[in-house]
Amino acid sequence: MFPVSFEYVRAHSAEEALAALVQHGGDARVLAGGQSLIPAMRYRLARPVVLVDIGDLSELNTLTEEGGHLHIGATLRDAALEFTPWINQRYSLLSDVSRVVADPVVRHMGTVVGSVCHNDPSGDWTAAALAARAILTVRGAGGDREVQIDDFLIDAFTTAVQDGELAVSMRLPTPGARTQGSYQKIERKVGDYATCAAAVQLTLDEGGLISAAGVAITAAATTAVRVKKAEAMLVGQRPSLHLLQEAALEASILSTPVADARGSVAYKKDMARVLVLRGLKQSLERLNAGVTGTGVQA
Ligand SMILES: Cc1cc2nc3c(=O)[nH]c(=O)nc-3n(C[C@H](O)[C@H](O)[C@H](O)COP(=O)(O)OP(=O)(O)OC[C@H]3O[C@@H](n4cnc5c(N)ncnc54)[C@H](O)[C@@H]3O)c2cc1C
Repeated sequence: MFPVSFEYVRAHSAEEALAALVQHGGDARVLAGGQSLIPAMRYRLARPVVLVDIGDLSELNTLTEEGGHLHIGATLRDAALEFTPWINQRYSLLSDVSRVVADPVVRHMGTVVGSVCHNDPSGDWTAAALAARAILTVRGAGGDREVQIDDFLIDAFTTAVQDGELAVSMRLPTPGARTQGSYQKIERKVGDYATCAAAVQLTLDEGGLISAAGVAITAAATTAVRVKKAEAMLVGQRPSLHLLQEAALEASILSTPVADARGSVAYKKDMARVLVLRGLKQSLERLNAGVTGTGVQA
């Protein structure tokens, strides 16, 4: 099927993109990598009157570390993370995700920020953003505002970005030597959306106690969700298999998946537990490999 006709604006600067978005308000949609929006338009699930294409904006194609955060610009492709060695060395959670989103073709077009803005209930980047405590910078006519990821993801395909606004970047705290993460995804075949997936990030203090925990699951509700009870259970504790198992169980309890061709509700709920447990274990294994003297036993 062909999309309904639309006006196309190729922005040459973020300023130009914002001006077009402000001018056209609710009639306009941002086009980033087009990997979700174009299919939606072809199925006529989305019918924007004006498409504002930011895909070529080099000023937003950025990946920098500054002020204790990793800054991901709005046009940075998934593949840029996948093939950046220092990301693979130091950002284990993001590195894991960058290898399992869709397939290589999609990853060379799709953007990280675009994926978070799309907020698919089975999105991979949204779960990672929750576990890593991301903050989005959203630009509108009145300037920039910062939105914590928990407030950004409102409901399926709905975020805090309003008509006439553009998400210009996402930032995440730079993990220190005592922070590691893991992304665990089950998919029917390579390139598929998750049947269920879990994003985990753990920080240990010098005595080997968990000082910070991020746990999120996707394909488990209308958006990716943080498993706050698991996080609270983990923080301040010394890791043990029993603790990890109890925390992982919270993911299963929180999960409210729908039955479909990928699996039954019971199967998906149990996978939430299994994947969080695997993510916790792998985070600790990575910590043990990189940090000596933590006394961690998982
Ligand atoms: C075959 C296939 C398999 C896929 N598998 C997966 C998968 O396994 N896991 C997964 O997570 N995703 C998957 N995807 C989706 C893919 O990762 C998309 O690239 C991603 O969801 C959207 O990124 P994009 O840059 O292409 O955004 P677009 O498609 O351009 O935009 C998506 C939405 O976000 C809005 N938007 C984009 N950027 C901004 C911005 N800066 N500010 C405000 N609004 C913005 C757009 O207006 C639109 O509503 C798959 C896609 C395909 C085609």
